[in-house]
Amino acid sequence: MRAASRVFSGLGTTIFTTMSALASEHGAINLGQGFPDDEGPDDIRAVAAKAIIDGPNQYPPMMGMSELRRAVAAANNRFYGLDIDWQSETMVTSGATEALADCLIGLLNPGDEAILIEPAYDSYRPIIEAVGAKVVTVALEPPHWSLPLQALEAAFSDRTKLILLNTPMNPTGKVFSRAELDAIAALMIRHDAYAVCDEVYEHLVFSGAAHIPLMTLPGMRERCLRIGSAGKTFSLTGWRIGYITGPANLMAPVAKTHQFVTFTTPPPLQLAIAWGLEQDDAYFAQLASSLQAKRDRLAKGLADAGLDVLPTDGTYFISADFRSLGFNGTDDEFCREITVKAKVSAIPVSAFYADPAQAPQHLARFCFCKQDAVLDDASARLKAYAKGQGG
Ligand code: GLN
Repeated sequence: MRAASRVFSGLGTTIFTTMSALASEHGAINLGQGFPDDEGPDDIRAVAAKAIIDGPNQYPPMMGMSELRRAVAAANNRFYGLDIDWQSETMVTSGATEALADCLIGLLNPGDEAILIEPAYDSYRPIIEAVGAKVVTVALEPPHWSLPLQALEAAFSDRTKLILLNTPMNPTGKVFSRAELDAIAALMIRHDAYAVCDEVYEHLVFSGAAHIPLMTLPGMRERCLRIGSAGKTFSLTGWRIGYITGPANLMAPVAKTHQFVTFTTPPPLQLAIAWGLEQDDAYFAQLASSLQAKRDRLAKGLADAGLDVLPTDGTYFISADFRSLGFNGTDDEFCREITVKAKVSAIPVSAFYADPAQAPQHLARFCFCKQDAVLDDASARLKAYAKGQGG
C-alpha cells in the first residue's frame, strides 16, 4: 500500500485530546484543554435558538452572513480604530482553526518559509508543512518569555513569506509589547513579508495590559491577516465561529481556500455572534474581569500548593514550574502524574515545541476558565498531593 500524507500520518493525537481523555479516565478535574465549564452566555444562545426556528438554515453566503461581517468590521473600528470594508475585507470561518488553515494555505507556496514563535499552538506547523513550506522557529525563554530580537532577525530571510504571531499568546499568557511589535513590523517591511495574526484571545487581557493588533501599526494594514474567535470572545468554543480581517488582495486567495475547505458555517450561529459583537463595551469588560479574578484565584491556589507560578497577562492559561515540589521528571510525566494521583490534569508546555530538546521540561499549563468551586477543588487536590509528596 502506498503511504498517506507524510505530514499527517506522522502526527499523533493532539495533546489536548490526549489529556482530556486521561482526565476523564481517572475522574480528574480537567484544567488541561482550554474551554469554559459552563454553557456560555444565555442571551446569545437565545438569539441562536430563535434563529434556528425562524431561519435561515440553508447555505449562507460563502464569505459569511452580512450581519456578522458588518459586526466584525464595526468591532475592528470600535476596539482598534481600524477602518474595514466588510465586503472585501472580512470573512467568516468555522472557528479560528479553519481561519488559520485558510490563511496559511492561501498565502504559502512550496519552498516558502514561515516563522513560528515557540512555544507555538499545535495547528500551525502541520498546515505549513503540508503545503510544502518550511517552518523556521524562534524560541521565547521562560519565565519572562521576551522576544529575542537577534534570533528573530536571523530567522528572517529572502524566502520568508510570513510570520505567525499569536498575541495574547497560548500557552504563555504573554501579551506582546508595542516595542516587540515594532521590531516584527520593521523586519516584515525589510523582507516584504506578511503576518498571520492569531488574536483569538484579543478580549481576554488582564491587569491593564493592552492588546495591540499588529495590523494597527504603520505599514502593517496591508500585510496582516487578523484572526478572531467567537469561541473565546463569547465562551462558546463548540460553536466553531471564527473570522478573518485583512486587505482585499490577501483575502481573495484565503476566501478561495475557505470555499473548498468548509464553504460556509451555520447561519443561525453567525447571526447570534453578530448580535454578541454589537453588545456594549461593558459586555467585553465583564468577560475580562471575571477571567482575571479566576486567574488570580488559581494562581493563589497553585502557589499555596507549592508551585512556582509564572505571570500571565491574557488568555485562559497560567503556567507553573513544578520543580519547587521536588518533582524531577519531565513536564509530560508531571501532567500524567497529577492527573492520576492528584486527580487534576494540565498540559505539558513542551507540547508546544517541535523539538523536545529545545523545550523547557519543567512547566505545566493550567486552564482557569472554570467555576470558582472547581478551581478551589483543584487547588486543594494539588495541595494534598504535594503534601503527600513531602512538598
Ligand atoms: N486551544 C485549546 C487549548 O489550547 C485546545 C483546542 C483544541 O483542543 N483543539 O487548550
